[in-house]
Amino acid sequence: MKAFLYSNCQFYTFDSSFRLLAFSFQLKKVISRFIMAHQIPEDGTQLPLMEEFYTIQGEGFHTGKAAYFIRLGGCDVGCHWCDVKESWDAELHALTPADQIIENASKHPSKAVVVTGGEPLIYNLDYLTAGLQGKGIKTFIETSGAYPLSGHWDWICLSPKKFKSPTKNVAEHADELKVIIFNKSDFAFAEENAKLVPTGCKLYLQPEWSKSKEMTPLIVDYVMNNPQWEISLQTHKYLNIP
Ligand code: SF4
Repeated sequence: MKAFLYSNCQFYTFDSSFRLLAFSFQLKKVISRFIMAHQIPEDGTQLPLMEEFYTIQGEGFHTGKAAYFIRLGGCDVGCHWCDVKESWDAELHALTPADQIIENASKHPSKAVVVTGGEPLIYNLDYLTAGLQGKGIKTFIETSGAYPLSGHWDWICLSPKKFKSPTKNVAEHADELKVIIFNKSDFAFAEENAKLVPTGCKLYLQPEWSKSKEMTPLIVDYVMNNPQWEISLQTHKYLNIP
């Protein structure tokens, strides 16, 4: 009986400590989330940078051109086929001074930058893009358009998603509309979005990578029958580059 009580008491102590530890861990997570969520300055002088790298643009109008990619963390659009889900939680990505990002971008031979995500327009991009353009760098953005437009852009690629509609002001300024084709209903979605962009905006249909075998033949037929559209392929994946 004594041994039983003792072992129960030990168990109780262990269980309580474990719960306390788990609680304090959860509390720390909540507090750090709260603090970090409020550390991102509204003037865009610091941004949650997931990665930056020099490569070849693989998709859309600028395919084949060298560019410096700036991938910002944070996205709440929630595409189930997203291939950068690790970008979704902004708090996992270090707040980085925009000046440092500009400096890094300016060290590369190509004077073109692609700002992507995540969803980069969650943040105020005025400061970053003014700084890049001040160094003679062309600024391109890849956005779902789910947030209001900020920044100074040489090229806006709108890639709208069914899960969160694009804002009017992004659609009105788009130079390129790139719709990802995951299933047949995406053709109708593409046509709906084509009505929102200006005349002369480039129109692209791009097969979602995992459905590319199934969707590419449909896209080929669609483009031949509707030549205002063009095909965009994720050529960087064929080239095995980032
Ligand atoms: S908008 Fe882009 S980053 Fe966000 S979930 Fe969709 S594909 Fe992923």
